[in-house]
Amino acid sequence: MKLSKMHIKTLREVPNEAEIASHILLLRTGMIRKLVSGVYGFMPLGWRSVRKIEDIVRQEMDNTGAQEIHMSAVQPAELWQESGRWFAYGPELWRLKDRGGRDFCLGPTHEEIFTDIVRNDVSSYRQLPMNLYQIQTKYRDEARPRFGLMRSREFIMKDAYSFDKDFEGLDESYRIMYEAYERIFTRCGLTFRPVEADTGAIGGSNSHEFTALSEVGESEIAYCESCDMAATVERAECKDAAPSPDGEEMLPLEEVYTPGTKTIEEVAGFLGLPQEKTIKALLFVTFDDEGKENGYVTAFVRGDRELNMIKLVNALGIPEHAIAFADEEKMHQATGCVGGFTGPIGLHDCKIVVDSELVGLKNLCAGACKLDHHIKNVNYGRDYTGDIVKDIKTLKVGDPCPVCGAPIKHTRGIEVGQVFKLGTKYSSSMGAVYKDENQKEQLIVMGCYGIGVTRTLAAIVEQHHDDDGIIWPISVAPYHAIVTLVNVKDEEQTKVAEQIYETLQKSGVEALLDDRNERPGVKFKDADLLGIPIRITVGKRAPEGIVEYKLRRDAEKSEKTVEEAIADAISLVNAEGYGM
Ligand code: ATP
Ligand code: MG
Repeated sequence: MKLSKMHIKTLREVPNEAEIASHILLLRTGMIRKLVSGVYGFMPLGWRSVRKIEDIVRQEMDNTGAQEIHMSAVQPAELWQESGRWFAYGPELWRLKDRGGRDFCLGPTHEEIFTDIVRNDVSSYRQLPMNLYQIQTKYRDEARPRFGLMRSREFIMKDAYSFDKDFEGLDESYRIMYEAYERIFTRCGLTFRPVEADTGAIGGSNSHEFTALSEVGESEIAYCESCDMAATVERAECKDAAPSPDGEEMLPLEEVYTPGTKTIEEVAGFLGLPQEKTIKALLFVTFDDEGKENGYVTAFVRGDRELNMIKLVNALGIPEHAIAFADEEKMHQATGCVGGFTGPIGLHDCKIVVDSELVGLKNLCAGACKLDHHIKNVNYGRDYTGDIVKDIKTLKVGDPCPVCGAPIKHTRGIEVGQVFKLGTKYSSSMGAVYKDENQKEQLIVMGCYGIGVTRTLAAIVEQHHDDDGIIWPISVAPYHAIVTLVNVKDEEQTKVAEQIYETLQKSGVEALLDDRNERPGVKFKDADLLGIPIRITVGKRAPEGIVEYKLRRDAEKSEKTVEEAIADAISLVNAEGYGM
């Protein structure tokens, strides 16, 4: 493609809302174009890179024997009501009605649709296992669309669904997908880490997120350097502190005056207690299917711990959007809690969730449910109990690893893919069965596997850029090489540049020819910004058959003969291209 003919508009200034490198650079290069918040279009260069990622995904999926199909983004509400997710998915589900008033949604994911296909089409064990996938546009009305393609409301996802006879079959399907994901993200040039993850609104038992390591990533990962434990902080188990010694006596309750000490730091400081000897209370209100308030929840964790919201909603068995921090005044009327002074004694009419380690700890200090007062020597069992007792605390930096005990570290990553063992969640709610060898009906066992194609594009830019622009890995670069013609008025230079450009293309090197009537400085800057991996500059020494060869990722450039430059470009692309 000749740049003089290409539809491309690079930007000097990008909107203030673009805060991270990938968002800024994808806008500056003109690869993506914003339509409204969280909705983007792709311009020629951007779309080429999207298609390359899709091709890598497609090749690796096809290699596993998965079969590509393409379903509509429009999904009837009935299927979501059958699975129970019409409510559970909450406000992220982009709902719409047809002219007859019938409910639909724009698919955020396709478990219901694929389960429906399989319950209709599969009847015998002979048809299993099977894996169906698609690469398709998804819609999620995200609360906070941000970071461009990273968290958008419309995005491209590869979603695959496996169908097996039993759980052993699922384990195998899951392993095959897990390994395909490792190959896909490696070929996309990402530095990534698979970590154990929560199953969220998708459901199921077991899950891994594939996270591209990056400071701007929204997934926080807890990991251990001594063993291979790595999990999202949402998911990571946090071991209970050792219980108080058997010999420690339960002391009598003692109400103490603690004026103005609303936080744990304040009360611990005021009473001269370590924070580990206190109990922290967090107050919540919950909502029903229609979004009406239907109850209160108080969660208790040790004073120095942090509550883990995902563990709390999982313990309660409700979706994330069905709970919010309570209005303290309103909750006080209903339950007797007192903002800043809430403890388990004196609370009523609310569900009490207690972190598991509190059960074994003696003589802790908690709020007295009375303004400016706390109670010392509170003991689980003697003074209060919980409706639910579970690990609801966050595994923090320095906490002991739940597997080996070494101090935990945290890092951040961009979730580019996730794999789930769904088990029979959808097949049982939607009745997807097959007949086994003995003609007995059995539930189909499912897994599902997503890759954010457009988020992967952003993650690649996040990991591959410098101050001058993008540095595309060859496998996903919109073009492999750019031939920069220094002086378009010079016939000799033009002839050599065109010859190189044509030879490259004939040899499978996707090339751009910068034949614009611009100063060389402008051309070099644009080539760097666009991040084209190989630059061949045709200038003054063209008549001698000498050109300049430079890789975007390297600082140095070198002079080569035309033939050498072409040969080097071809061999680099053969080695690192995506190899269709
Ligand atoms: P997140 O936790 O980031 O909201 P998720 O866990 O809800 O994502 P999945 O349901 O696992 O997402 O979807 C599969 C993949 O689709 C994700 O791994 C991610 O790469 C991509 N994805 C999800 N939501 C978005 C979004 N709003 N914008 C772009 N890509 C997304
Ligand atoms: Mg996910």
